[in-house]
Amino acid sequence: MTRVKRLSANFGTLVGALVGVNALAGLITPVPEKVPCAVADRQDFEIPDRVQLAGWLGARIMANATNRLEKLDTGRLLEGYRHRPGRQAWDGEHVGKWLHAATLAWVYTGDPVLRAKLDTTAAELCKCQLPDGYLGTYLDKDRWTEWDVWAHKYNLIGLVTYMRYTGNLQPLATCLRMANLLCKTFGDGPNLRDIITAGWHVGMAPTSVLESMVLLYRLTGDPNYLGFCNYVVRSWEQPNGPHIISRLLDRRGVNEVGNGKAYEMLDCLNGALELYRTTGDSKLLDVCLNAWQDVVGHRLYITGAASYCELFHDDFDFPNNNNVGETCVTVTWLQFNAQLLRLTGEARFAEQLEHVVLNQLLGAQQPDGAAWGYYVQMEGKKPYSGDLYGHCCLSSGPRGIALLPTFAITTDPDGAVINLYEAGTAELTLRDGTPVTLKVDTIYPAEGHIRITVESPSTREFSIKLRMPAWCKENSIRPADARRGDDGYFALRRNWKSGDTVELNLKLEPRVVVGDHLNQGRAAVLYGPLVLAADESLLADTQRPLNSLALPKTDLAALAITPEPAPADHKTWPGAQVFQINATTQRGSVQLTTRLVPFADAGITGERYKVWLPLSAQPSGNLLIDGIESRSRQGNLNGSINDDSLQSVVTTYDGQRATEDWFAVTLARPVSVRRVIFTHGKNFHDGGWFDASAGKPRVQIQRTADSAWGTIGELNDYPATTATNGQFDRLTWSNRSFTLSLTRPVTFVAVRVIGMPASGDNPQQAFSSCAELQAFSE
Ligand SMILES: [Zn+2]
Repeated sequence: MTRVKRLSANFGTLVGALVGVNALAGLITPVPEKVPCAVADRQDFEIPDRVQLAGWLGARIMANATNRLEKLDTGRLLEGYRHRPGRQAWDGEHVGKWLHAATLAWVYTGDPVLRAKLDTTAAELCKCQLPDGYLGTYLDKDRWTEWDVWAHKYNLIGLVTYMRYTGNLQPLATCLRMANLLCKTFGDGPNLRDIITAGWHVGMAPTSVLESMVLLYRLTGDPNYLGFCNYVVRSWEQPNGPHIISRLLDRRGVNEVGNGKAYEMLDCLNGALELYRTTGDSKLLDVCLNAWQDVVGHRLYITGAASYCELFHDDFDFPNNNNVGETCVTVTWLQFNAQLLRLTGEARFAEQLEHVVLNQLLGAQQPDGAAWGYYVQMEGKKPYSGDLYGHCCLSSGPRGIALLPTFAITTDPDGAVINLYEAGTAELTLRDGTPVTLKVDTIYPAEGHIRITVESPSTREFSIKLRMPAWCKENSIRPADARRGDDGYFALRRNWKSGDTVELNLKLEPRVVVGDHLNQGRAAVLYGPLVLAADESLLADTQRPLNSLALPKTDLAALAITPEPAPADHKTWPGAQVFQINATTQRGSVQLTTRLVPFADAGITGERYKVWLPLSAQPSGNLLIDGIESRSRQGNLNGSINDDSLQSVVTTYDGQRATEDWFAVTLARPVSVRRVIFTHGKNFHDGGWFDASAGKPRVQIQRTADSAWGTIGELNDYPATTATNGQFDRLTWSNRSFTLSLTRPVTFVAVRVIGMPASGDNPQQAFSSCAELQAFSE
């Protein structure tokens, strides 16, 4: 099969350039399944070779294929199988996830290098199977205890995807042996093992093998595999099971299902939808729709992330930086919405897809595609990693990107459906067999104008359905007779002929979302479909640290949010933009203009970013909040001591000894103060506190910018600590506050707390920590 490699991954791809390729070069027909589905899909997802995306998403898809999937070391993927038990417990998952993503990417690009790597990797994986069918990374004695059913799941999904798209059925025997071993090992009959006890998270990890087994059942028609799938669903309701069916039918929150582990649960639900498609058991669809409603209503971060510490939590419990937004959850949430879109054809699922893709998913992928983030939080630094040593998420992210061409533009019983607005071409075959090509010209989301041109060998009546984004308040469609259907799409039905066009204008506007619950007193800024963030790399001209930045108001006129072309270090694609905004410092004393950046491109230079920005505080609060902070040594924690948050701490740790440490805040103009509060950050076995044996920590000030530091008092309530201490419990010590109260107001432009750092159990060094330095007028 000769096919043509398409666009290159580099950022310089011409906007809207439509590379006409492959119209006659053999398109792929997947190996057909033996078992017909009981439920017909409402939308037909596309085989990726029919679709070519040439905008922002297109650049990220090519970057994923060429800089990640093609470059990943095959030896590393197979290492845990060749040298069991591998370097860690779930090392076996990576190769199957890679096979799935790389197959889809190869179908999209036609790249022969990637295909050769696929062929080798699939064959080499099959060679690692043990004679009884086992294809996990565990030693015999440890089988079926943690993550090896899980590895079989990914090996099956990877190899089945590879076989169906390449037509090479050589791995089939390996898949059958794997599946037969699972069927022989697990069940609720005599002498069979309980699958719930074969892995973590109340059995949700091992039972997420459901999706793979349904796909293998449809491919082969072996009724044993369907029997196994039905057993898996029954096992969920065992007394020791996660109760996925009963609790979700009862409309309980997903946080009350199993242990609330988001990735494994969503994987189970994706399997349930595949089983519903196969058997038509509508209870399974109801379960999933209830789960979807619960997540969208109560458990979705503003960027489309859906967990922290990898779990679903209580309603609206959204901390911004507590291991937020596991990328595996982002990808399974995307897959869940894609499944629901295929099955129901309802635009509300495509709406979620656009949102999670343009924000959280692209935000987890390094723009050049070479690296991924594990937890991609609402503030902090992007934790990009170029290898697999950060584990699960680093092989999940590429699967999400590789799926984009399957649902960007689809067909349904009425005609064609546009789900994602992106420059490119889709060569569709309507359900009546009519070939229709749609060409899309746009630089969305950099602008809201989209032109769709029809190419068809004959004039044919069908619908072109357009998704109207929920954020869009003003729009126009030409021709003007589009009708909103029950599925939520706007349909244009007519006799279409070659050259006909649809012109869509979506007015892109800024929006401000005022925070509630844990984000009370903060606000987030959006522009069209994009969630924006402040990024330290764009604050240099304001001379302000990220933590001092605030929004003066929530009304749009005052903020004057205006898009402009991104500077070079944020030019991740030709349409990349940043957004000028009127901001202020936290107490509102300094007005400044700065720029926000899409969450997807936030933190890409390695600097800190923040989605939820404080609304400027009332003047009665901490007088130091607008100041510039400094400390005696930079240390190893990059928090802030004047952001009114005890979560963001700093230390002076640099592995060296020191006899003096200080934490200071300098102000632009003098303040009059009666109270100074110093709060420690974290203490450790080897330091973090002050050694008070030669005197308690002192408070010093500068009365004017040029004057010397002078002591105005000490922290009298500081305990009698020593360098090695023993006076107090380290755990309760973190975040303890100490106060200097003044009998009469003192005026200064800078204040610091100075003391001797402690060395704990390592006398080779000493350091101290600080969460916050505050000053108040009363
Ligand atoms: Zn993960």
